[in-house]
Amino acid sequence: MESKKRHIVIIGGGFGGIATAKALKNTDADVTIIDRLNHHLFQPLLYQVATAELSPGDIAAPIRSIINKNPRIKVILGEVEKINPDKNTLQMRNGQIIPFDQLVMATGAQYNYFGHEEWAEYAPGMKSVSDALKVREKLLMSMEQAEGLDDSNKRKSLLTYVIIGGGPTGVEMAGAIAEVAGNGTKHGYRNIKPEEARIYLIEAGPRILNAFPESLGEKAKKMLEKMGVKVLLNTPVTNIEKNKVYLKVGSIETINIIWAAGIKASSLLDTLKVEQDRSGRVIVEPDLSIPQYPDIFIIGDSAHRVDKKGMPLPALAPVATQQGKFVGNLIAKEGKRKTNAKFVYTDKGTMATIGRAKAVADIRGLKFSGFFAWALWSFIHVLSLIGFRNRTRVFVEWIWNYFTYKRGVRLITDRSGCMHCTTYEKLHKELLEVHA
Ligand SMILES: Cc1cc2nc3c(=O)[nH]c(=O)nc-3n(C[C@H](O)[C@H](O)[C@H](O)COP(=O)(O)OP(=O)(O)OC[C@H]3O[C@@H](n4cnc5c(N)ncnc54)[C@H](O)[C@@H]3O)c2cc1C
Repeated sequence: MESKKRHIVIIGGGFGGIATAKALKNTDADVTIIDRLNHHLFQPLLYQVATAELSPGDIAAPIRSIINKNPRIKVILGEVEKINPDKNTLQMRNGQIIPFDQLVMATGAQYNYFGHEEWAEYAPGMKSVSDALKVREKLLMSMEQAEGLDDSNKRKSLLTYVIIGGGPTGVEMAGAIAEVAGNGTKHGYRNIKPEEARIYLIEAGPRILNAFPESLGEKAKKMLEKMGVKVLLNTPVTNIEKNKVYLKVGSIETINIIWAAGIKASSLLDTLKVEQDRSGRVIVEPDLSIPQYPDIFIIGDSAHRVDKKGMPLPALAPVATQQGKFVGNLIAKEGKRKTNAKFVYTDKGTMATIGRAKAVADIRGLKFSGFFAWALWSFIHVLSLIGFRNRTRVFVEWIWNYFTYKRGVRLITDRSGCMHCTTYEKLHKELLEVHA
């Protein structure tokens, strides 16, 4: 009788999941990747989709096409609802039960509104292509509406942008918005003056980019301020309502509110009923498996693993990728799994862009800022994209944008379907009333 093949299931086709699958290229097991989306997404460049520099297709690739060369790997499009670790099974949203011998959970994270889930409606975060397109739609629409108004006072509220959270995503987003909104004439707007755009980057803590050395955080702040961004430090947001952000002192009215302030791990992890940290990440063993379940591994943004100094590893793409590779290699061959294996993260550095052709970078203790850091950032990001086609397209797009200031994807495509579009006229009217 033919013996049943070992079955490895990977949940998530993000950075961690794809790295695991690649490391399993010579495995003796059958492998299944399950994702609720059909594509892998390069999240670090989502802000460029939101600010009309890149198209969604430049930063995403179908999971099937990435693993196409390996006949052992199967892809299922669907959402996993529950894990039963005692029975080695998982349950899909459609009720299907899938058994596994080994499970790798690379389910990533979602935005954390710190108990104020109601804020999500007015201050969306960006985790997916559709989130980024909604932000793009809103951003472009507010500029179009402002362009149509003669009264500069009334234009102001449409040209106000609030980004909450001073981490790399908030900083990159603020810089890119300053770039678009502050250069209206270069983009064909005749009425909008650069000084009319008001861009606020709001941070509850005493500094921005707090995972970077302090001097780079300070440099980034200065660069943003030079571009016209108002960086408000020690300023916790106390409430968010439709078109209004309340701060410790005062409030800001705008339709453009973007949330970039913290993440929490995927809620699927709760179904495991094992120890989690405050952000919902599962505390994993040195080999990234979970206590009492040596055949279930958690990697990437979903895992809580500490570095040599006892600090939790950051929620970054290289952490997820290295962990995926580690686990893939560990379980590739049956009976060859090392005992006492231990994941060690190699930190190659962190970087963030600030508007056009500027960035800050901390590479193994060496600090860079300005154009050189941006060139380095561009090079590394182009190389990290999946697929030659995407790399070439993004490279060409960036060169084009650098020399022409042109953002090729300033398209407003779905006014009837997107989250806020049906309310634009109403919104516009409301804003005019507020400022009457
Ligand atoms: C806007 C933004 C900017 C960022 N910028 C940077 C940066 O500059 N540098 C950097 O290093 N990192 C950056 N990050 C962080 C980086 O993207 C993450 O650390 C990385 O994606 C984590 O990889 P992962 O595999 O854990 O999860 P992800 O890449 O998020 O993948 C998770 C996958 O799991 C799937 N999934 C989740 N739940 C289920 C379920 N129940 N059923 C089926 N499928 C499911 C999702 O659809 C997704 O495809 C950024 C993140 C964001 C959102």
